[in-house]
Amino acid sequence: MLVLFFPGIFHVINTLCSNTRLQNILLIPTRSIQTLPKSIAPNESIPGTVKDSLLELTDHCVSCGMCLPSCPTYALANAESESPRGRIALIRAILQEHIDAGEKAQEHLDHCLLCRRCERICPANVSYAELMDGMREYLQKSPGRKKGGAISRLVYTALRSRKRWSAFLLLGLRLERSGILAAVSRISSGRVASDIQRLRTRILPMITRPEPLRSHYSAIGTSLGEVALFTGCMQEWVSADTIRSAITVLTRMGYAVYVPEQQQCCGAMHVHGGYRQQACDLQLQNRELFKHLPIQAIIGLSSACVVGLTENACDTPMPAQLKVFEFCDFLTSSPGLQRLSFKPMPRTLLLHVPCTHKNVLRKEYQVEQVLRLVPGIDVVPLPADNHCCGAAGIYMFENPVVADQLGMRALERAGTGDFDEMVTTNIGCSLHLRGLLLQGDGAIRLSHPADILCKAMGKD
Ligand code: SF4
Ligand code: SF4
Repeated sequence: MLVLFFPGIFHVINTLCSNTRLQNILLIPTRSIQTLPKSIAPNESIPGTVKDSLLELTDHCVSCGMCLPSCPTYALANAESESPRGRIALIRAILQEHIDAGEKAQEHLDHCLLCRRCERICPANVSYAELMDGMREYLQKSPGRKKGGAISRLVYTALRSRKRWSAFLLLGLRLERSGILAAVSRISSGRVASDIQRLRTRILPMITRPEPLRSHYSAIGTSLGEVALFTGCMQEWVSADTIRSAITVLTRMGYAVYVPEQQQCCGAMHVHGGYRQQACDLQLQNRELFKHLPIQAIIGLSSACVVGLTENACDTPMPAQLKVFEFCDFLTSSPGLQRLSFKPMPRTLLLHVPCTHKNVLRKEYQVEQVLRLVPGIDVVPLPADNHCCGAAGIYMFENPVVADQLGMRALERAGTGDFDEMVTTNIGCSLHLRGLLLQGDGAIRLSHPADILCKAMGKD
């Protein structure tokens, strides 16, 4: 019966259900239970060169400890093992086979948010993200790797194709509306129950089935060229208005905008989860798609996606003609900005700059610059010592306690209420912070700079 209504339900429930009680209740044939992800061969031998190159990366660390105060997990735990220096030492010890990559060691490595604040601060230029991504890939291919939760395994699998991702989100919405998820949550326990509960309270309330977008929007006035908008995996579902706002801004600046329907996820979550090959597959599909469009730029609305598109997960380099920009960065570098006019909007904005924007793109000032174009707007940045908000892609499911602690810290300033709206430039952070705000009175609004500009242009 369920299968008739919800095609693919077996796949989802099988993955969610780790206990036979649930499987029996839902009449799931046990032989159909799959272990995800399929691509990992548990006994695959790892070439020594991989170990050597990771060890070489650890050699750059001079153990000065300057990164410690910048690390959000160190700030919470006050333990060396939860710091960048501690994790580097841990990786070295595992690779040199001085210790086993047991559950506890893996936990310390998995607690890293890949916020890359340590990387920005490090005087020895340790390529921390390259090391951690490489180590997670190494662990994924090793026997004894700690299994991620059902939700993250589903997300990694579904994100490998846009169609599958849409089907996954739609299925989630249907299961929630029909009460099935609530029922599954009631009869499940442990990690499965908490994952479902988180999905129901933090993600699904924010998701709406998106109205289809056109694949091309013409420029208004004299043309300055053509660009493509990268919408990522969540923007359409969580905040389709932001995509429309960005199209309005860009077309009024004089750009024709492509929004190709076949674009795939940027692959950032896969890289950080240790699934580099899958990230590379996604990157290659996106490159193939965008390189056949007559565009001068790909513009991303989320800083993490921009990083995901530009940092190479493959051995083949990015085609030279493809230039990727974050939205505010593109605006400040374009002569089209002069064509925009804004009505005064007396409003104080609390600006949250995501880690990927601050520590990797390092273009945070462009966001403030763009917002200050609107007369009457005052921008209050979250304090400079503000750590990662805890979203970090799938991290909010894999490490919910740490994610929420960090999220609440980021929102401490929001508690003062002396601003009108919060602004962020990353959909993952937006989703996580909105989820947390929803647990309170939900009165604080979270927007993207494109939404603010669009409103100030009189296009609400
Ligand atoms: S700042 Fe750099 S060199 Fe110093 S301990 Fe941290 S990672 Fe190592
Ligand atoms: S990337 Fe962020 S969470 Fe990870 S060790 Fe560096 S500062 Fe800490």
